Parts: sequence; C-alpha cells; structure tokens
Amino acid sequence: MTKTKTRIALIAHDKKKDDMISLAGEYLDFLKTCTLSATGTTGGRLANELGLTVERKHSGPVGGDLQIGAQLVEGEIDCVIFLRDPMTPQPHEPDINALVRACDVHNIACATNVSTARLVLSQLIAARSFS
Ligand code: PGA
Repeated sequence: MTKTKTRIALIAHDKKKDDMISLAGEYLDFLKTCTLSATGTTGGRLANELGLTVERKHSGPVGGDLQIGAQLVEGEIDCVIFLRDPMTPQPHEPDINALVRACDVHNIACATNVSTARLVLSQLIAARSFS
C-alpha cells in the first residue's frame, strides 16, 4: 500500500529559529519523507542547514503566514509547527492570529512550542508505522 506523504508547515519567529533547527534535526529522517512548506527565512535555514527540501513561501511579516494559511484552507497541510515568540511583539500579529484561527477552523494540529511539536511529530511517526 502506498503511503501518502505527510504535509507539514514550519514557521518560527526569529528568536525561535534555532529551536526550530534543533527540533527539525531531531526529526530529520521523518521530515525528509514529508512534503514541507515554510515561511521564507525559516525555510531557508531548514534547507541550508539541514538539507531539507522545502517549499518556501514569503517571509512571515510580508505575507508568508497568510500563504501557509491559504494552503491549509485548500486542504494542502496536515499539521503546522509554528514556534511563536510570546515575548516579542510581532508586526504581523493579525496574520499570526489568522493562521492559528485557520488551524482551529479546519481542525489542523498546530504546535506552537517545542514540547507540543515533539508530541505531534512523534504521533505522526507512530501513525505512519501503522498505516
Ligand atoms: P520567516 O517568517 O520564517 O520568514 O522569518 C516567520 C514569521 O515571522 O512569521
């Protein structure tokens, strides 16, 4: 039976980008089997530092979050890992809220911190091994 690729969106605010790289490094073997989208800078780092193949959207502050949201609304995303920085005001707060809201509207798992992301990724791996 053919296993369909899991489609994951990855976004990290600036102070969380190192965390994203570490997290993606932990789950590298799995992420290599997935179809990945990311906001511009996050995607660039994932590609350059980990060798992942990533569809790079625009940077978050200029609409990348909204592009990921649009993909999600079209049914093209299974899971979002969005490492938000809760300590720094973001100029694109409305876009961030729109993306998280879209996840809730469409019942898409959205991990906004590393601990939750680990749980979600581990579950996706477990679910795949039983499919
Ligand atoms: P970036 O966007 O990956 O282009 O930095 C993330 C964000 O700030 O939403």
